[in-house]
Amino acid sequence: MKIMKFGGTSVGSAPRMREVAELMHAPHLQRRIVVLSAMSGTTNALVEIAGLLGDGDAPAAAARIAFLRQRYHEVARELLADAAETLLPTLDAHFQTLLNFLAAPLTPADERIILAQGELLSTRLLHGYVTTVLGRPAVLLPALDFMRLDADGEPDAAAIRQGLADALLPYPNDALFITQGFICRDVRGDIDNLRRGGSDYSASLIGAALEAEEIQIWTDIDGLHNNDPRVVPGTYPVRELSFDEAAELAYFGAKILHPSSVLRRGPTVFRCGC
Ligand code: ASP
Ligand code: MG
Repeated sequence: MKIMKFGGTSVGSAPRMREVAELMHAPHLQRRIVVLSAMSGTTNALVEIAGLLGDGDAPAAAARIAFLRQRYHEVARELLADAAETLLPTLDAHFQTLLNFLAAPLTPADERIILAQGELLSTRLLHGYVTTVLGRPAVLLPALDFMRLDADGEPDAAAIRQGLADALLPYPNDALFITQGFICRDVRGDIDNLRRGGSDYSASLIGAALEAEEIQIWTDIDGLHNNDPRVVPGTYPVRELSFDEAAELAYFGAKILHPSSVLRRGPTVFRCGC
C-alpha cells in the first residue's frame, strides 16, 4: 500500500485537481490511498464562518457560505462539465450542513462539524471527477469511519488500524481509495480534527496503521528548504534528510509538514522533491 497526500493548493482549482488525478493514476498502479486536504482557502473560510456564527452575525455568515458555495459550483462545473449536475446536490448537502447552524447559538462541537466540511467537499469533487469523467474505479473511504482520537485527544493507533481494516474489507480488489485528511472522531464519536495542517498527520497515521511502504506528501513547494524561503532569499531544497532532521525542521516552523507527521524515527531516509 502506498499513501499519497495532496495539500490545499494541489487541489485548489479544477486544473490542479486534474493534475492530482493524473498523478494518482501513475503507471504501475499498486493499491493506494489518496489523502486530500480541503481546497486552498476553504478551511480559513470555514473558520471565518464559525467565527461569524459565534458572534451571532448570521447574515454575514450566510453571505460567506453563499460565496463559498458559488466557488464550489464553479469548480464542479469546470471539472465535471455536464456531469456536474449530478454532483451538485451532494456538494449542496455540505453547504446545507453549514446553513443549519444559522438558526441557533454555536457550540464548540458545531464548530468542528463546520471545519470538517472542507475535506468532505474536496474528496467528493475529486472522486466525482475520477469516477464519472475519467470513468475509473475509485472508492471514497470516509475518514470519519476510521480516524479516531483517544481520551487524551491523541490519535488512537489501535482504533485507527482496526477501523481502516474494517473500512477496506469490502474492497479486496480495488486499487484506488480517496479519503479526507484532517478530520476524525473523538473518543465519544463526535466529529473532531487533527488541528490545522493536520492532513499530513492523517497521511502518516494511515501509512503507519497499514504499514505502507511509502507515504508521499505532495505540496506546492519542491521540498524542505535549508531556510525559510519567505524570509531568506536564495534558499534551496535539501534532498535527503534523516527523519530527526525533518521532524526538527517541521517542529521549528517549516510549514511544509505537520510536525507530528514525521515523528517516526528509523534508518529510513526522508526524501524531498524527488
Ligand atoms: N484543511 C486543513 C487546514 O487548512 C488541514 C490541512 O490542510 O492539512 O488546516
Ligand atoms: Mg499543510
